[in-house]
Amino acid sequence: MNDMQKHFHKIPSVNWLIEELQNDFPGMKAEYLQRIILPCIEQVQQNPHKFNIEKHDKDAFRTRILQSLKNDLNQLQRGSIKKVINATGVILHTGLGRAPVNSDIIENLQTVNRYTSLEINLKSGKRGQRNDHLSELIRILTGAEAGIAVNNNAAAVMLMLNTFGNRKEVILSRGQMIEIGGSFRMPEVMRMSGCRLREIGTTNKTHLRDYEDAINKRTGAILLCHTSNYEVKGFTAHPDLEEIAALAQRHNIPLIFDLGSGSLISERIFGGQTEPDVSSFIEAGIDLVSFSGDKLLGGPQAGIIAGRKKWVQKCAKNHMLRALRLDKFMLKTLQQILIRYITDPESIETVIALKTGREELIERCNDFASKLSELDAEIETVPSAGKTGSGAYPLMELQSAAVRIKPRSKSVNWLASKLRQNHIPIFGYVEDDSLYLDLRVVTAEEENEISRVFKTLL
Ligand SMILES: *Cc1c(COP(=O)(O)O)cnc(C)c1O
Repeated sequence: MNDMQKHFHKIPSVNWLIEELQNDFPGMKAEYLQRIILPCIEQVQQNPHKFNIEKHDKDAFRTRILQSLKNDLNQLQRGSIKKVINATGVILHTGLGRAPVNSDIIENLQTVNRYTSLEINLKSGKRGQRNDHLSELIRILTGAEAGIAVNNNAAAVMLMLNTFGNRKEVILSRGQMIEIGGSFRMPEVMRMSGCRLREIGTTNKTHLRDYEDAINKRTGAILLCHTSNYEVKGFTAHPDLEEIAALAQRHNIPLIFDLGSGSLISERIFGGQTEPDVSSFIEAGIDLVSFSGDKLLGGPQAGIIAGRKKWVQKCAKNHMLRALRLDKFMLKTLQQILIRYITDPESIETVIALKTGREELIERCNDFASKLSELDAEIETVPSAGKTGSGAYPLMELQSAAVRIKPRSKSVNWLASKLRQNHIPIFGYVEDDSLYLDLRVVTAEEENEISRVFKTLL
C-alpha cells in the first residue's frame, strides 16, 4: 500500500453516487450514471493528488466528488455544441461551422419536424424523388438543365467520379491535383471512387493537346478542379474552359468541375472584385459543376451538382447516392436558401457579409470602441484584412476593419482564453500583443454581449 492508497477509503461508492445523483437528475438511468461515474473514480485512483484526497476527511471528499460529477452532468445536459461569436473576420470559418444561415430560414425546419412530402408526389400520390424538391430551383439559379444535392461537396465529387469514372480513367491536369484541408486529396478521392487517375500536363502548363492526347476508349470523364487554396503564377498556361468543353463534347465524355465554393451571385462583391458565378461555368459548357452548400452559397452543409440532365440523371441512379443523400432537415434548409436566392438574395446573411464595405465596418468598430472606453486597455479601430475562408478565394483579402484591444495589466492570451470560455464563447484573433475583433459577422446583440463581458474582464 503506498502513501496515497491509505486515503482510498474516502472515495465514495458508486452506488451512493448513483443514488445522490438521481435526486438531481431523476430521469437518468443508473446504468448511464455508472458509465459516467466509473471513469471519474478511476481518475481519482490514478491521480489522487490532483483531487487533494489527503487534505479532505471522508465526508468532505465524497461531497467534492459528488459536486464535480454534478458539474459534469450539467455540462453534458447543456451539450457541447454551442453558439459562439465569430469576430475573426473569416466569414466561412470551418472551425466555427462555416456559413451563417438566416434564422428565418432555420425556422422553416419546424414545419418538417414530423412528416413531410419528402418522397411523395402530391399530385399523383405516387412515390416521388427527394431531389425533385431541388432540381428545378438549381436549374433556375444556374441555367443548368438539372441539379441534385448530396451531403457535402466531397460527396458530390465522389458521386460524379464514381458515376463516370469507376473502372475507367479520369483525366486531370497536374496543375489541379489539389489537396484541400481535412484529408481531401484528389488522387486519393479518385482511388476511393474507383477511378484511375490519368495525369496530364505539368504543374504550371497544360495544353489542349494534353487533354486530347489522353482521351482513349477507357476515358470516363475529364475533371477540372478549382485550385481553391493556392495559385500558380508566372509561366503558366491552361486551355480556356470553352475549348475543353468542346473537346469533351466531341468525344461524348462528361466534363466535370469541382468548384468547391460556388457562388450564385455574379455582381461585384468581395471588395469590388468580380468572381465567376456558377452560371458562368455552365455557360462555358461544363457538363457538371459541383459546389458546397455552406461555403459562398451561405446555406447548410451540402454538395450541389448542376449540369446536363442526362448526366445528372446518371448520378441520381448511382446506388452510392443512398449513402450520400440529404435528410429532410437539410433538404428543407437548402430549398429555402435557394428560394431566397431567387426571391431576395440581398437578405441572405452570407451575401450581406461579403458585401459589407470597409467604411461601414469602421463606423461600427468606432461605435463599439467608444462603448469600451472605460476599460484598462488601449483601444482603437484599425483597417484589417478579412477573409472569405473555406478555400473560397483564399488569396483575396476582404477590405475589413477591426477593433484592436491591448490590455494594460493583463496578457492578451489570458484575455483570449477568457473570451473563449465565456458562456457564449467569443473568437477574435491575436497579433502583436493585441486582440483584434472584426465585426463583419457580429450582430448588434452579439456586440452587446462582447462589451458586457469586457467590462467584467478589464
Ligand atoms: C471545399 C472544397 C471541397 C470539399 O467541399 P465540402 O463541402 O467541404 O465537402 C472540395 N473541393 C474543393 C475545390 C473545395 O474548395
